[in-house]
Amino acid sequence: MITSGHELLELCEKENKSISEVVIEDQIKALGLTREELFEKMRVNLNVMKRAAKLAVEEDIKSVSGLLDGDAKRINERNLKGDTICGDRINRAMTRALSCLEVNSSMGRIVAAPTAGSCGILPAVLITVAETNNSSEENMIKALFTASAVGGIIAHNATVSGAEGGCQAECGSASAMAAAAAVELSHGSPEMSLDAAAITLKCVLGLVCDPVAGLVESPCAKRNAMGAVNAMAAADMALSGIKSIIPFDEMVMAMYKVGRSMPCELKETALGGTAATPTAIEISKKIFGKD
Ligand code: SF4
Repeated sequence: MITSGHELLELCEKENKSISEVVIEDQIKALGLTREELFEKMRVNLNVMKRAAKLAVEEDIKSVSGLLDGDAKRINERNLKGDTICGDRINRAMTRALSCLEVNSSMGRIVAAPTAGSCGILPAVLITVAETNNSSEENMIKALFTASAVGGIIAHNATVSGAEGGCQAECGSASAMAAAAAVELSHGSPEMSLDAAAITLKCVLGLVCDPVAGLVESPCAKRNAMGAVNAMAAADMALSGIKSIIPFDEMVMAMYKVGRSMPCELKETALGGTAATPTAIEISKKIFGKD
């Protein structure tokens, strides 16, 4: 298993390979699968992601609590009118991220990459960048291996759990995974992928986990939409040659330290942040019938 960004970049340089290729070879050895079998496993994930990223636009989906209800459709409809501030690509990515969260909160099928609460970011970025670049399905699958390397390194050295590290660890990690994948899908170097991942982590450092009524719905859905935008912006910065002054591995440790220093009120307990606002408390009472 590859346990640091430094090690990953050294392997890429030594073998003159992309991140995905290094990870694929590592996984073939670790799991004892053929390349085809490994790709088939990842293709299943990709297909689940593709479906979740459009389901809430095509069908009426309501979360179990009713807090999420049609936002993916709303943003998609406005985008189709061609009158958005951020432009078509960003709006398509946000639509996909919101759709995944709506599917998740209605107990539908998603890929927790790295968690259910952050399940919209990677599909949104991957599908939108692949669509823009006219990427093959094979290259999308490879990009998922690149994303998995980043997620694996974060999980090994820090955490991807909101309960342990705040939303920076969930949506932040998903953004870092998506940014690295987007760079590789856009023919950037392994260094650029990790620069993009580091930049995304910097931009969400300190983000708390504060789900309204303790449900993975609000502000989670909007954080997924913003997490996708964060990843795409970081990928563009890295692809233009902008470096992360702080290396990826150091940003992972910084994120972990910040997470550990957060009070428990800000780590998925629904006792602080957005969850502790008067409106959120009212919502919680309506849903659960008590304080
Ligand atoms: S606020 Fe908490 S529950 Fe919601 S996505 Fe972020 S980490 Fe997950």
